[in-house]
Amino acid sequence: MKTGIHPTYYKESVITCGCGATITVGSVKNEINIDVCANCHPFYTGKKKRIDSTGRVDRFEKLAKKTEGLRENTRSKREKLLEKSKKKTEKIDASLETSK
Ligand SMILES: [Zn+2]
Repeated sequence: MKTGIHPTYYKESVITCGCGATITVGSVKNEINIDVCANCHPFYTGKKKRIDSTGRVDRFEKLAKKTEGLRENTRSKREKLLEKSKKKTEKIDASLETSK
């Protein structure tokens, strides 16, 4: 092995998870911090939990709620317009029939 080119190898470096779990492994880094591990990841725990440190999911849900309300409003507007146009065509039909 060539000297002076290899990083220091720590036989017992500690990986610390956000949930508090620690894992001891061999690594070139002495301390490693991670956000999720097998103890707390939803895939392994089976619990529904979002890993969302920046709040993007929350922002998306807020936006989805907003647009949902808008969509309902536009639907009702569309229905109103349809009713109006139906009434108009009925009026026109009635006037055509009377003119005959
Ligand atoms: Zn964890």
